[in-house]
Amino acid sequence: VSKSPGEFELIARVTSRLRHSRGTILGPGDDCAILARPRTAQLITIDSMVEGIHFNLRWGTAEALGARALAVNLSDIAAMGGVPIACVVNLAIRPGLGVRFFDRLYAGLAGAADAAGVDLVGGNVTSAEALAITIALVGETGSSVLRRDAALPGDDIFVTGTVGDAALGWRILAGKLRARGTVRKFLIDRFLHPVARLTAGQRLARMNPAPAARHPAAIDLSDGLWQDLGHVLERSGVGAEIEAGAIPLSPAYRAVKGDNLELALGGGEDYELLFCVRPGHSAAALTRRLGVPVHRIGTITRGHGATLIGGNASRMKPAPRLGGWDQLRASDTR
Ligand SMILES: [Mg+2]
Repeated sequence: VSKSPGEFELIARVTSRLRHSRGTILGPGDDCAILARPRTAQLITIDSMVEGIHFNLRWGTAEALGARALAVNLSDIAAMGGVPIACVVNLAIRPGLGVRFFDRLYAGLAGAADAAGVDLVGGNVTSAEALAITIALVGETGSSVLRRDAALPGDDIFVTGTVGDAALGWRILAGKLRARGTVRKFLIDRFLHPVARLTAGQRLARMNPAPAARHPAAIDLSDGLWQDLGHVLERSGVGAEIEAGAIPLSPAYRAVKGDNLELALGGGEDYELLFCVRPGHSAAALTRRLGVPVHRIGTITRGHGATLIGGNASRMKPAPRLGGWDQLRASDTR
């Protein structure tokens, strides 16, 4: 039976090997970290992952869990077109997890931070009944910021990558769905190892260099395409028409679900970007420009709420109105 490490021992262990960029004047070890004065406006975001709600330790490695905890925060910075700078971590630890586990968790976290150019500048450890990892992340903005409230009628709506894969991976891991071979591996990987679209977000923000401009609009897909699109529509005071046949599905998704869009629209954890730009940009040109596959899925309209049109839209249940999949998600994925 492994013993929980003491708080001070754990903090010392996990921070002793960290290196920092010049933007960090003082890293872990004092009451606060000290960061150099930023050159631009700053972004700050926070997210928690709780055992039994967002993850299960049997599903993947401790390293992957640490990396994923950072990735979901990085995705919020990506959604604003920002550059991530530094983070602090709160670990709520429960009995039964040994020093080796936390070493591996932090190795994954530190590796992901390194890859994203983020300094891990401090942390806190507390006892709890369930393991939870909370990360607060600071970033800098470029010349302009991507916001949810910037969508305009007539905009084309695009998404990066494919949607619904992670929701299927989650169901496979939870024993609610069966898949085999490369399909199974791909879908599980999409859930366990999300990659924030940082470069794409930064390049998208540069498409409008005017500092005061609030365009393009963007959001990252954490709760599911339909719900996250709803946030953009609500904040921008607009509506949308989404083309069912244009939703980008991976071959693995199709292998399991065919053209059933329920999880592509209602499943979460994709960490892709949804963004709205003025007409005139082809998906091919945006794919080249952003360095990631991009698909056009619809148009921003006057009015409010989203409508699914064409394809198998009529087969969708429940009726695809704004937030229509909330209940499904609440009962099924949590
Ligand atoms: Mg977000």
